[in-house]
Amino acid sequence: MAGLVIAPKARIFHGHDWVYGTEVRTVFGNPKPGDVVLLKDQRDHYLGSAMYNPQSQIIARRFSRRKQDLDRDFFARRIAQAITLRERLLPGEAMRRVVWSESDGLPGLIVDQYADVLVVQTLTMAMYLRLGLIRDILCDLFRPRSIIVRNDSPMLAAEGIEPATYVAVGEEPAPFVGTARGIRFCVDLATGQKTGLYLDQMQNYADVAKLAAGRRVLDCFSNQGGFGLACALAGAAHVTSVDISEEAIAAVRRNAELNGVSIEAIAENAFDFLKRESDAVRNGADPKWDLIILDPPSFTRNKKSLAGALRGYKEIHLRALQMLPVGGILSTFCCSHHASDALFRETIANAAVDGHCTLRLLRRHGQSPDHPVLLNIPETEYLKGYTYELVPGR
Ligand code: SAH
Repeated sequence: MAGLVIAPKARIFHGHDWVYGTEVRTVFGNPKPGDVVLLKDQRDHYLGSAMYNPQSQIIARRFSRRKQDLDRDFFARRIAQAITLRERLLPGEAMRRVVWSESDGLPGLIVDQYADVLVVQTLTMAMYLRLGLIRDILCDLFRPRSIIVRNDSPMLAAEGIEPATYVAVGEEPAPFVGTARGIRFCVDLATGQKTGLYLDQMQNYADVAKLAAGRRVLDCFSNQGGFGLACALAGAAHVTSVDISEEAIAAVRRNAELNGVSIEAIAENAFDFLKRESDAVRNGADPKWDLIILDPPSFTRNKKSLAGALRGYKEIHLRALQMLPVGGILSTFCCSHHASDALFRETIANAAVDGHCTLRLLRRHGQSPDHPVLLNIPETEYLKGYTYELVPGR
């Protein structure tokens, strides 16, 4: 069987499951992209089975410490384990991520469940080549109404996979109403659109909403309204949602109606919105919101654009702080892999220095439990968030 001999000091010897091209001593047996390879150290000790793709910087991803093929039994077992975990962590939830890549021992496979519709992504060549098998197993396990393959991630290019989005099983689902953590959402999974919900934020909707009763809430970068809806349902005095996308704002309005709550939904660039509103407060206007949520997109895809991204993060934090009254609350999230937790916190701290205010930590946030974090693979932890309270008089 084909395999790789791994150079000493590679990250795999420190618990990681990835092998970078620079960490390989020799390749033997002429493996093809997407093949299963054996990993060995220089003394011929066996390190496990991995999926191989020389087109990617990550040339191999270990999926088992034993000799293991990517066969039907393997997929059926791992996917069943992933479902069992979700049942334990999120019992009865109809909308959730059921398979998340490395975190479920299935590198590159993502399966999101929206009631009886599944959305599948394959981000590694090995998974991509086995889509037919994966589809059959998902059909056996879920009996879904439809399966949509949505391979549209910018990460595909690095693996040499052609982007494609199509209906693999059943028919293209018309928009339908689904419930996630007690919130009703209109789910539109049409293959022509960027899809779905931010399932990784679901837990945080509930956690932030616990602070919302009686408060006036501003949800910036709201997308389809998750935070704002949860806050409105939890008794917020008023909710304003801002997103640059007209479509997202239309969805916020639809979702507010579905849940019987009222939300002021504004389609605008949040930078412009925050600038205008914070200038008004600095010029003496009364603060309009007591709880501000910031959940921007990742402003950076690589290390090069990080400095610019951090300037953007700092600006929105400073403006939000300037708009809050004493005792006001800021909940802020960062989903960028490149902006570390420490950098993110430093950025918030810098904004607080410029805004002459003191922040007290109320809560830390992470990704929802259907996106499990593995200690040995730090890349599985990407979403971080903090809720701070503006402390009076310092
Ligand atoms: N909070 C959302 C997820 C936010 S994703 C949720 O939990 O569902 C980021 C959102 O920011 C997207 O909806 C995108 O349309 C929006 N966005 C991107 N740039 C923006 C900008 N400059 N101003 C306002 N919204 C923006």
